[in-house]
Amino acid sequence: MTKKPFWETKRLEEMTTEEWESLCDGCGRCCIYILHNEETGDVFETDVGCKLFDAKKRRCTDYQNRSKRVPDCVQLTPQNVRSLTWLPKSCAYRRLAKGEGLAEWHPLVSGDRQSVVDAGIAVSPHLVSEDEIDDELLESRITRER
Ligand code: SF4
Ligand code: SF4
Repeated sequence: MTKKPFWETKRLEEMTTEEWESLCDGCGRCCIYILHNEETGDVFETDVGCKLFDAKKRRCTDYQNRSKRVPDCVQLTPQNVRSLTWLPKSCAYRRLAKGEGLAEWHPLVSGDRQSVVDAGIAVSPHLVSEDEIDDELLESRITRER
């Protein structure tokens, strides 16, 4: 008999910090600028990334100090993932909070970080940094609806 993985047996609140952090699939889609249409509620992704985001490696370059350096960087918690409706539907935290389980392309399931890219979930490695673009131009940088 094989032991079930922690994400199938524990509630989000019961996970260790290490388990919690490992749930992130590394898609990078919470590190890009998104635009909300306040009338329709629609959310659009852009190809503009946070100044701390390394798009090639799909990693925050200063994860430990991210809240200090980027005050509007939202730290996910078991409490807030249920209400952050702008998170992509593919986000592992959102999926688990909704009882959907992890997708087959999730690195914890596939054993391969590249599977997020192959499944078309990860952000482009060619993002523009927020430092390189005016806020007024964000609308022209929309790539897809979320
Ligand atoms: S959207 Fe979710 S899974 Fe993707 S990088 Fe952000 S926290 Fe991780
Ligand atoms: S500070 Fe880091 S974790 Fe937060 S949005 Fe920017 S790159 Fe992502």
